[in-house]
Amino acid sequence: MYYFDHSATTPLLPEVSELMDHINKDVYGNPSSIYSIGRESRSIIENARKQIARSISARPEQIFFTSGGTEANNHVFWSLINNSQNHIVSNVIEHPAVTKVLEFLNPLGLEHELVGVNEDGIVSVDDINKAIKPGTSLISLMLANNEIGTLQPVQESVEIAKERDILVHTDAVQCMGKIEIDVSTLRVDFLSLSAHKFYGPKGVGVLYVREPKKLSPLIIGGGQEKNLRAGTENISAIAGMGLAAETSANSLDKKVVALIEFEEQFKSGLNKVFKKAIFNGNQSKKLPGLINVSFPGNRSDIIMTKLDRASIAVSNGSACGSGDIKPSPILSAIGLDDSMNLSTIRFSFGASNTPQQIDYLLTELKSILI
Ligand code: PLP
Repeated sequence: MYYFDHSATTPLLPEVSELMDHINKDVYGNPSSIYSIGRESRSIIENARKQIARSISARPEQIFFTSGGTEANNHVFWSLINNSQNHIVSNVIEHPAVTKVLEFLNPLGLEHELVGVNEDGIVSVDDINKAIKPGTSLISLMLANNEIGTLQPVQESVEIAKERDILVHTDAVQCMGKIEIDVSTLRVDFLSLSAHKFYGPKGVGVLYVREPKKLSPLIIGGGQEKNLRAGTENISAIAGMGLAAETSANSLDKKVVALIEFEEQFKSGLNKVFKKAIFNGNQSKKLPGLINVSFPGNRSDIIMTKLDRASIAVSNGSACGSGDIKPSPILSAIGLDDSMNLSTIRFSFGASNTPQQIDYLLTELKSILI
């Protein structure tokens, strides 16, 4: 498989896989048990907590393990359900793990406003500022978008939020290993991560919480995760995530250079193969290695099917249900009409790629595009 869909998920790093196999085979103590094999499990979890904290410049006690990015986001919003300040400001290009949760919580008393986005795919701080009203308790703004990769003005939003005592959450699920994540500079109150986007296992993630006393529990039961997220911990997944986070944050510069080289090779090749290609979203303020391209006159589902026959994996943002292909709301939000929207493919490069693979992708695209 020639895999160019690293924004959807990533393969496990071999060393992560090895570590998880070892833990699954040999470490079975309940981390809440006080005898030695329980303590062994506990120390594995606490080591992972430190690794993750270091990778985002947080303190270990600010790291809470979840089942992934979706749960981390849910936790922040559900936590506000009984708040007297019941208004949230977010935006239209968030992942459904934000927008759908906000929609669901509306009839339960949590109001929200989704601000728009410009044609470049960047939310305006001014619009966020205007959407704030007396009951606003939270701004939720993703660090980078998952379809077009555009970086959002999170730090600037924190500036205006702090003046008014408003909390800030950022969904940074797409960012680990692609840009530096430093919560001490970002100064956000909550930040979501998901291990399977940075060569760790699926079904495990992190919610960073600046001041844990400001969060209510989402899953209630035993006292794990300081009573904020009950349930016996998935030790091997947490350990795998810890190692994957450490590896992602190490030598980040080198990884970014490789991603940019892939991106430049692909873009310059594509400009020769298909001159009408349109690169969506701001091309300088975005994640390295994530490229969203419209191919006017070609349908994305047909391109994807033909690429799949050549063992190439890419994705489009369109939801496909009961045979209907629906345009991506994110591409609509940046102004693409339905026909252009349905001609768009996301390419996301990663550690498993080589320059030869990108040449192969370009050759196949040349034979497919009309
Ligand atoms: N947020 C963003 C921006 C994402 O891209 C994704 C996954 O694609 C999620 C949240 C959900 O993360 P998870 O798959 O870990 O639940």
